[in-house]
Amino acid sequence: MSNDISKYLSNTARELKPSAIRKFFDLAAGMEGVISLGVGEPDFITPWNVREATILSIEQGFTSYTANAGLLELREEIAAYLQRGFNVEYNPVNQIIVTVGASEAIDIAFRAIVNPGDEVLIVEPSFVSYAPLVALAGGTPIPVSTSPENGFKITVEQIEAAITEKTKAILICSPNNPTGTALTREDLKEIAATIIKHDLIVVSDEIYAELTYDEEFTSFAAIEGMYERTILINGFSKGFAMTGWRLGFLAAPAEFVGHMLKIHQYTTMCAPHMLQHGAIEALRNTYHEVEAMRNSYRRRRNYVVDTLNNIGLDCHTPGGAFYVFPSIKATGLSSELFAEELLIEEKVAVVPGNAFGESGEGYIRCSYATSMEQLQEALKRMQQFVERRVGAVVK
Ligand code: PMP
Repeated sequence: MSNDISKYLSNTARELKPSAIRKFFDLAAGMEGVISLGVGEPDFITPWNVREATILSIEQGFTSYTANAGLLELREEIAAYLQRGFNVEYNPVNQIIVTVGASEAIDIAFRAIVNPGDEVLIVEPSFVSYAPLVALAGGTPIPVSTSPENGFKITVEQIEAAITEKTKAILICSPNNPTGTALTREDLKEIAATIIKHDLIVVSDEIYAELTYDEEFTSFAAIEGMYERTILINGFSKGFAMTGWRLGFLAAPAEFVGHMLKIHQYTTMCAPHMLQHGAIEALRNTYHEVEAMRNSYRRRRNYVVDTLNNIGLDCHTPGGAFYVFPSIKATGLSSELFAEELLIEEKVAVVPGNAFGESGEGYIRCSYATSMEQLQEALKRMQQFVERRVGAVVK
């Protein structure tokens, strides 16, 4: 065998860049006393009744495969959840697939709709997986940048400017990672008109639907004319504090689902049986826990946004998720340098905004899914850091 392993690798694998978030956290992992505002996951443990239902499932011996699309009982619960929460109707028999996280759902969605050369618009700053997954599906990701002047909301003009005859689909994530921006029903209606006009498909990442703080969440599939052209992505990771369970789902018109199911069947077979019993319990009996978590994030969001603005890092108020995306332009540092120097000098880990696309340059992402005490300490340290760079801000 040759010493040069690269000759055995596919071009696709070689050209794929590792996530910039991971790279940064490897650096933080070796340091002591670091407060991390970096990770994008809840600081809550999964509600006990969900864990208990899963333990019971193991005790009762539910250790086999399930149907490829997931337990019908779970798909029925998902359909009921989508109906009562978002007013969208899906047939559990042929319109829903239980996936290994929303991550797998996004992957099979792109693989089912993208042909070589197809362009997929990605609203940026964006979650790090979208562009690589479009590329893995053989398509071309086209970034469409948003800006803070209108709270990082995508405009119809920006979408129109990015559309070519090769455009197949658009990925919309609301509430958004990393900006926290939540689109209103009116925003979605405007975008929908453009999507329908150009005959596009939407992959709608609604994983943060439960974590919407100011306005009622609206699903893209609930907008008139959008049901038939929406692949709805959701899951248990964020709202139900179940990241490690790796359980998500997608819902779409039956014909899309049929093709996505083939890909899911060959790559994954099915999501773990016993965990699906936990997910059924999550959908049936965690209403109060989910609400309590949402209220807790809302309180922390308010505190973090106020404090960042007070220390001189301009920050819009995000309507959802658990991230803030303040500007660090006042310091004159690039976002990578800001994150690196903050980590070394003050031991606070944040993610440089350019990890989420070029339009994230000049910003950092801070997750507030950590305790109030940790947030207070982290913001005190950030204030010291900013004051050393630009002097105290008088408000
Ligand atoms: N979409 C977004 C916007 C996310 O932030 C994440 C997780 N960080 C995912 C999808 C993936 O979620 P899951 O854990 O369900 O794979």
